[in-house]
Amino acid sequence: MSSPRWSADAASADMLVVGAGLAGLSTAWHLLRDRSRRVVVLEQDDRPGGRSSGRNAGMIRQALTDPELCALAVEGRGTLERWAKAHPGLGWARTGSLILADGRQRAQLSGIRSALKRQGVRSEPWSHRKAAARIAPLEGAELREGIFCPSDARLDIHRLVTTLTGAVRAAGGRVVLGARVAAIRRNPAGFTVRTAKGAYRAPVVVNAAGAWASRIAYLAGASRMPLAPYRRHLYECAYRDRTAANWPFVWDLSADLYFRPIQGGLLMSPCDKRPFRPGAAGRLPGGEESTDRKVREIFIKKAAEYSPSFSGLRILKERAGLRTMTPDGRFLIGPDPVLEGFHWAAGLGGHGVTTAFPVGRLAAASALGRAQSSELGPHLPSRYRRRTGER
Ligand SMILES: Cc1cc2nc3c(=O)[nH]c(=O)nc-3n(C[C@H](O)[C@H](O)[C@H](O)COP(=O)(O)OP(=O)(O)OC[C@H]3O[C@@H](n4cnc5c(N)ncnc54)[C@H](O)[C@@H]3O)c2cc1C
Repeated sequence: MSSPRWSADAASADMLVVGAGLAGLSTAWHLLRDRSRRVVVLEQDDRPGGRSSGRNAGMIRQALTDPELCALAVEGRGTLERWAKAHPGLGWARTGSLILADGRQRAQLSGIRSALKRQGVRSEPWSHRKAAARIAPLEGAELREGIFCPSDARLDIHRLVTTLTGAVRAAGGRVVLGARVAAIRRNPAGFTVRTAKGAYRAPVVVNAAGAWASRIAYLAGASRMPLAPYRRHLYECAYRDRTAANWPFVWDLSADLYFRPIQGGLLMSPCDKRPFRPGAAGRLPGGEESTDRKVREIFIKKAAEYSPSFSGLRILKERAGLRTMTPDGRFLIGPDPVLEGFHWAAGLGGHGVTTAFPVGRLAAASALGRAQSSELGPHLPSRYRRRTGER
């Protein structure tokens, strides 16, 4: 392998953040609370939020079983609501969520209820009858129990990314697009990072590269983390029902299916979870954004079996994105266990929109050496300790 050429005139910053998804943008925004700090976000694509952060369902879900994730989701929802008030046009709709399950998943439902209760978030049990009276497709579906969380919400993810990018720039941060990180060198003063848009140096690097976070760690010589990206599909389907606009988002844990209203129809997912190996380079043919015909067939069949209202669904648009997970489902936020100055903000799984703000708050605190270890505890990378060299 040819060794990279290192520019002697690398642009200097206080903090480099790799990745302009929600994790990286939020981290940068929190770092910029001190406006004299020079923060540069390096993004490989020609626009921010083009990967998972722009390819998700935009559901703000606090109704989760893991108490640690629930706590972050509650904080994240609160901040997003305040943002939506300050930045009209985010498409914030406090519709609530309805999580459904059959008897076999009763424990999961009660786990959600107790996690919400611990956070002081109201939820109520809904009988199948009550749910079906409000959400027509549930009438013909199999019997379920439900939990309704009225403060859950949805928003427009593209506007969120645009607003957050604008806020980072307005606070004096730089978001450099088309700047794919190709090499990282550790030196006594910190890191020099070579990108397609020149070299940058800083004492601190935050790795917010989503599904590519392992690659960035490898380039830097940081720890090897057990991050696994999984692909999931979303379908925009034509659906006519005048009441649909006010429905909560509905997630059926037993059927592995969710749906929520969008303009003129429903956004739906068959909750597919197939491991995906992202290429080291940028967008690849057959990459994470291409969709799989087989999954579409499975989805059509699953939806029709779920409810007669969903038989013969017409798909208007489809997309796929990556959810990058750790084995315990918690995040990777905090200092690398072996490489000083290298911090993680990755592994947000299926919760990175809801939790974007607390993730950024914690990652920024970590990068500044101000993080409370009690807060980072469940998400600390040090719980998985291996070096990248050990392959
Ligand atoms: C189908 C689907 C539905 C979802 N629905 C929801 C939902 O309803 N609610 C919710 O809360 N969450 C949801 N999620 C999860 C959420 O989308 C993710 O957790 C979140 O977007 C992850 O953000 P991120 O910034 O970590 O990653 P990303 O958005 O992927 O950002 C990482 C960035 O790093 C950049 N990058 C990578 N390598 C390099 C490099 N070498 N140099 C420079 N830049 C690089 C990438 O281009 C990318 O922009 C969903 C996810 C999927 C796939």
